[in-house]
Amino acid sequence: DLNLWDSKQKIRALLEEKGIQLKKRFGQNFLLDPNHRRRILSALELPAGAKVWEIGPGIGSLTHGLLEMTGDLTVFEIDHGLIRILKDLFGSSISIVEGDFLRTFRDTARNSSLPRRIIGNLPYSSGSVMIGSLVEEDLLPDVAVFTLQKEVADRMLAQPGGKDYSAFSLVCQLRNRVEKICDVGGAAFFPPPQVVSSVVRLRRRPDAPEGPQQDYFTAVHDLFRSRRKTAANNLKGGGLKSRYSWESMKNAAELSGLDLGRRGETFSRDEVLSFTRALSDFQS
Ligand code: SAM
Repeated sequence: DLNLWDSKQKIRALLEEKGIQLKKRFGQNFLLDPNHRRRILSALELPAGAKVWEIGPGIGSLTHGLLEMTGDLTVFEIDHGLIRILKDLFGSSISIVEGDFLRTFRDTARNSSLPRRIIGNLPYSSGSVMIGSLVEEDLLPDVAVFTLQKEVADRMLAQPGGKDYSAFSLVCQLRNRVEKICDVGGAAFFPPPQVVSSVVRLRRRPDAPEGPQQDYFTAVHDLFRSRRKTAANNLKGGGLKSRYSWESMKNAAELSGLDLGRRGETFSRDEVLSFTRALSDFQS
């Protein structure tokens, strides 16, 4: 039922009845608007019955709609009061992983089959860390849909030369194409956040590299160490240096046709990837 808890009066009454105070540190802004809920759920392109992870279900604004499409739903929620609400609402029809997603998701992934979709209206404070961790562990499925602060979404979408281009752009783009579904104003939530949110979809690239890709992530962070410096200067003082000699880095750059005299922040995902692939042959 996408109209469940669709007004602040109803949510206030629910929280009061259960004796629950909202916690700012957990970024609890619940999505009221049924039209936005519908749009977010349809962006997930969920095959009927497929396994889904929902991060931060809160009072179940999206969970209800998900359950109409699948019976295989695992949700991750940190707040004990909200977990009580979820248990009352959904009983055993969902599986609830209690605690901080950043601490629970690895074990959950190890101990059961992997999800085919991930969805979440993420908390402002840790949304980008959650996405970065899922990318680094290679746990993002074919399609994932996240609602987060517009500034964070802009960084995920940014291309070389854009003002929002950052290490996080290159992390998100390694294995995925990122697209914006829509912006959502504060009034669509309760309590209303001060900032605009965006809904983004991450779709796995057919050529997504599998496995850890540690050198890529290290290179990305090295290249952005200082925005004004050349790639060469950033790499000389960065983390890749603990695995490769400067000589190897120069050779790898030459093999992949890259000019390390360019600024680090101008490198595209493809360029960083071809550089670290060439570099792996020099591993000592
Ligand atoms: N999905 C609901 C909705 O759209 O109305 C709630 C979204 S609210 C923005 C974020 C939710 O994430 C809250 O329920 C909050 O308690 C939960 N949360 C915050 N930090 C978390 C963490 N580290 N692990 C799991 N859940 C977390």
